[in-house]
Order: sequence, then structure tokens, then C-alpha cells
Amino acid sequence: MANKKQFDIIIAGAGAAGLSLLWRILNSSVLRDQKILLIDQSFEPANDKTWCFWEDLSLPNEGVIHHSWEKLLVKIAGEDYSENLNEYVYKCIRSENFTHHILQQAEKSEQVTFLEAGIKDFISDGQFGFVQTTKGEFKSRKIFQSALKPSGFDNLEVDISLIQHFLGWEININKNLFDPNLAIFMDFEVPQSDGTSFIYLLPFSQNKALVEYTIFSENLLEKDRYREQVRNYLETRYNLHKDDFSIEREEFGAIPMEDRKYPAKYCDFVWNIGTIGGFAKPSTGYAFSRIQKRSLEIMNALESQNPIPERRASSYRFRVYDIMMLYLLSHERDNALRAFECLFQKNSFDQVLKFLSEESNPALELSIFSKMPYMPFFRSMYKMKHRIFTGV
Ligand SMILES: Cc1cc2nc3c(=O)[nH]c(=O)nc-3n(C[C@H](O)[C@H](O)[C@H](O)COP(=O)(O)OP(=O)(O)OC[C@H]3O[C@@H](n4cnc5c(N)ncnc54)[C@H](O)[C@@H]3O)c2cc1C
Repeated sequence: MANKKQFDIIIAGAGAAGLSLLWRILNSSVLRDQKILLIDQSFEPANDKTWCFWEDLSLPNEGVIHHSWEKLLVKIAGEDYSENLNEYVYKCIRSENFTHHILQQAEKSEQVTFLEAGIKDFISDGQFGFVQTTKGEFKSRKIFQSALKPSGFDNLEVDISLIQHFLGWEININKNLFDPNLAIFMDFEVPQSDGTSFIYLLPFSQNKALVEYTIFSENLLEKDRYREQVRNYLETRYNLHKDDFSIEREEFGAIPMEDRKYPAKYCDFVWNIGTIGGFAKPSTGYAFSRIQKRSLEIMNALESQNPIPERRASSYRFRVYDIMMLYLLSHERDNALRAFECLFQKNSFDQVLKFLSEESNPALELSIFSKMPYMPFFRSMYKMKHRIFTGV
């Protein structure tokens, strides 16, 4: 490359989205000659996130899957719904392993230049996109960024802006209590005063689990409030007191759940990917599998030298379903809980997961909605009609 500040591809942000795309490019025989600049504030793999999904995804290495479960449990309205999965497996990846694996491959590749720097902004002069960092400016015609909100983002039309926020502890306990084959997907039997709240519990062995207190609401809580709820849950459900467990690590997350139309691009030549690109599903917060699908789509476009498709993360049909559920979560919390109850009571878990991952067909969706309390959903459609009829 003639100019050492010019690259074929720049990936700004080396989290789930940036590294998934990098991995795709590094494994493409067609893109072998592409020089890539990878930028992040830190390349130290952090054990700060567990990414779960149930779809069949191509992964850098099957070994990155830390644990998987074939049985899920949902507790709601005094009932336990637990079921073996037949079509899916619920899988979990630790961010540290995923990052380590891909960075290791990148370090061995002559294609990748690493830049540990703060990303400040992106601009375009009409010929190139530029990333401005604390260590200088770099240019490319293909920049993929997952670090910064595009300018004007906060002024985009948004009717419902919730957050899925959670804090969890990975704990070791002094007895064998957990079932490592059964993940607690949602346990709503917790106080509902902070927002629509549930416990998510991933057992890794009989005496080790990640336990998270999760809320769908407008505002974050004081960290101690989440901790208190996790502690209460361990005590009331498992009779585990302070001295019965040790905390190996704490995980905190806040994922947007909103009807904002996320812009595909930051500016000319700069595409938004990952959460900032709108790839977290508004009604669930799940993003990892959507990020994988988007990475594949971008790689296919790069390989065929076609324009990067500017598609939204979900098709119109699913955007409407998401907006209806967001409306209930925001305005009719009791009905949102009732909808969750009907979902798990009246459908198989495989069907629910298929629907949530947007792999369902209209017949299944009709069947799911026909078993729901329909008035709240009609009301949500009516209340959100100005979004629904303008494309959401
Ligand atoms: C704790 C947690 C658990 C989650 N669990 C799940 C799950 O189980 N399943 C699921 O589907 N989704 C999950 N999500 C949602 C989503 O999958 C993750 O948030 C995912 O990490 C999003 O990927 P990303 O690349 O957009 O962001 P990130 O992974 O956060 O990556 C962004 C990168 O940009 C870098 N960066 C940011 N700003 C700058 C800057 N100014 N300068 C330089 N570098 C910068 C950061 O260091 C980071 O490496 C979870 C989210 C969190 C927070």
C-alpha cells in the first residue's frame, strides 16, 4: 500500500461485531490481499461478557463454545415451564475466548495492522472515509465501526426507548445444587417493582453458575440494587447465604431496546455494525447471532465487490412484532407479562426460539399470536400506527 495511512478495510472497534467481521475476512480466500487496520482502545481480551444464542452459526472454532444446554426453564405466574429443545441448543461463548481466538489468528496474519487508540470521529471527503484517532487519522473506502454513535443519533425519532439492563455474578458454591443441563431462561418470580424483571441463570456445573438480575425499563439502577436482587434470589430459591458462595466475577450490561431507526452509515464509506448499527433485537436484546449474519453478508458483498447492502436487521414483519412488544413493555407491563406467560405456556420452546430468532414463517407467527391476549396487541398496533404504517 503506497500510503501507510490508507487501508483497504478499516475495522474500528474490536468487540463482537468488529472481530466477527475480521474473522470472516481473514478466512476468505478472495480477500487474502486486503490490508486491514484494526483499531480498539484495548486488545486485552476481557472476561466481561457471555454471549448466548441458539441458532446454528459458523464460529471460529467449536471450542469457543463454553457450555451448552438442551433444556430450558421459564418460571412465570406461579408455574414452571421446562422443556427439552429438539431443534436448537442454547449455547454460550465467553467474550474472552472469542476475542483471544480471533486476535491470535489476526496476529499471525500479515493482512492486519493493529492500532491501540481512542476512536474520536469519522469523516468523509467524498473520496474516502477517515477515522480520527488519538494516534492519527487513517483512510479507507470501507470502514466498519462499532465504537461511536453517529452524529444526530440522539435526535432520531424514537417513541419507545427502553434498556435491557442486568448485573450478574458468576459464583462457585459449596454444594452440588445446579443442573448443568438446564438453563433458567427467565424466572419472573422476583419483585416486579424495578420494571419487567427476571433472573437468568446459566449453570456451568453443579456448583458453578452465572446468575443475573435482568430488567426491561427506562433507567439503570444503582449497582447495589441488582446485587441485592441476585443475593435475595440465591437465598430464597437455593437457600444459599453469604458464606455459601464465592463470586468469581461480575458482569454488567445495558442493551438498547427501542424503535429508533438506526442509520446504516455514519457517513460516506463508514458503515455502522454491531449494537450501534441496530443489530440488537429490540424486544429481546439478543444481538450475537444477528451480528454473525451481518458479518457474513458484509463479507459476501466484499468478495463479490458489490455495494454493502444497507438492510435493516429485521424484516418489516418482525419490526412490527418488536414494536408491539416494546409498547406493552413500556405502557402495559402486566399485559407484557401475560404475553410472556402465553408464549411459553402455549407453544413449544423450539417454536418460541424460532420466532425470537426470526426464523419462523407467517403460519407459525399466526399460530403464536392467536394464543395471545389479542386486545393488548391490537391496542399496541393502534397506538403505534404512526410508526407501523411508515415502515417502523
Ligand atoms: C454483558 C453483556 C452480555 C451480553 N450477552 C448477550 C447474549 O447472551 N446474547 C446476545 O445475543 N447478545 C448479548 N449481548 C448484546 C451484544 O451481543 C453485545 O453487546 C455485543 O458485545 C455487541 O457487539 P459490538 O461489537 O456492537 O460491541 P462491543 O462488543 O461492546 O464492541 C465495541 C468495541 O469498541 C471498542 N470501543 C468503543 N468505543 C471506543 C473508542 N472510542 N475508541 C476505541 N475503541 C472503542 C470497545 O473497546 C469494544 O471492543 C450482551 C451484551 C453485554 C454488554
